[in-house]
Amino acid sequence: MKKIRVLTGVTPSGVPHLGNYVGAIRPAIAASQNPDVESFLFLSDYHALIKCHEPERVHESTKAVAATWLACGLDPERTTFYRQSDVPEVMELNWILTCNTAKGLMNRAHAYKAAVQDNVEKGQADQDHGIEMGLFCYPVLMSADILMFNADKVPVGRDQIQHLEMARDIAARFNHRFGTLFTLPEVQIDDNVETLVGLDGRKMSKSYGNTIPLFDSDKKIQKAVNKIVTNLKQPGEAKAPDESPLFDIYKAFSTPDETAEFTHMLAEGLAWGEAKKLLAAKINAELSPKREHFEALMANPALIEDILQAGAAKARRQAQPLLAAVREAVGIRRLS
Ligand code: AMP
Repeated sequence: MKKIRVLTGVTPSGVPHLGNYVGAIRPAIAASQNPDVESFLFLSDYHALIKCHEPERVHESTKAVAATWLACGLDPERTTFYRQSDVPEVMELNWILTCNTAKGLMNRAHAYKAAVQDNVEKGQADQDHGIEMGLFCYPVLMSADILMFNADKVPVGRDQIQHLEMARDIAARFNHRFGTLFTLPEVQIDDNVETLVGLDGRKMSKSYGNTIPLFDSDKKIQKAVNKIVTNLKQPGEAKAPDESPLFDIYKAFSTPDETAEFTHMLAEGLAWGEAKKLLAAKINAELSPKREHFEALMANPALIEDILQAGAAKARRQAQPLLAAVREAVGIRRLS
């Protein structure tokens, strides 16, 4: 039976956080343990350049994100684990797909629209002020990441659903023009996990500096959790799940029964301070055992590099035949 190909990436543009963990890393590693699944897990460092123009940050973050994947249980033997920039075939496919993507499709991408909206709200005469082509074309690069390996399923956070739809559109247009070479990927969302909100009430994101990092000490995790916004309700007053983002984080670390119990406790008047203690304990119970492994990996970048190089060689063996077929299909061929 043909194995299902699952692919997902995390961008090394800062310290990996709880959103990355529950939205991408945890489900992808769980899937990789299924013998019917073939996993492609990667560090999307060319995506980091879209948001981050600080070379040292990209470099440090690459190490931290790789160490996070490995500390969370990624097995490089069972999976294909690589850094995007070590697989140049992806960038070549990126250009070929760019030449087959409607500009109008990119105009509708959330990240671009949000940047335009921001300019409008600030009264900028030029709606595209400060927007670079990397941001505008980002969904094409993401499509190249996915289509290069003909992934069947892509586990991501809800914020990425639109980009998956775009990857399908781009693949369908290419297949229609040149013959079917690409699988249409399906998005895979963990029903238990919402897009986690950060400490300031916006989406938890490395770019906003509002995250709860994965591998801080128990004490620091408690300190970060204490900063999550709540309202002024007193202990004893009934509270609803949608009154603080801490509920969704709790849910992401709990079974449905535990979440139901937590909902009940809030309704019965659990104090926000107590709720935060329960949440930090939940997070630490899952992550503390992985922390030591993470620290050991961070102290041994050469080992991480060796793992990534072996992964890139494996990835390129898969990418090269498909890229050769794509080049042939679009007319980039040797003369004879
Ligand atoms: P990024 O680091 O932005 O490349 O995101 C890597 C993965 O983490 C993607 O699958 C995202 O959907 C997921 N992710 C990022 N932020 C969050 C969040 N706040 N909540 C849930 N998933 C997230």
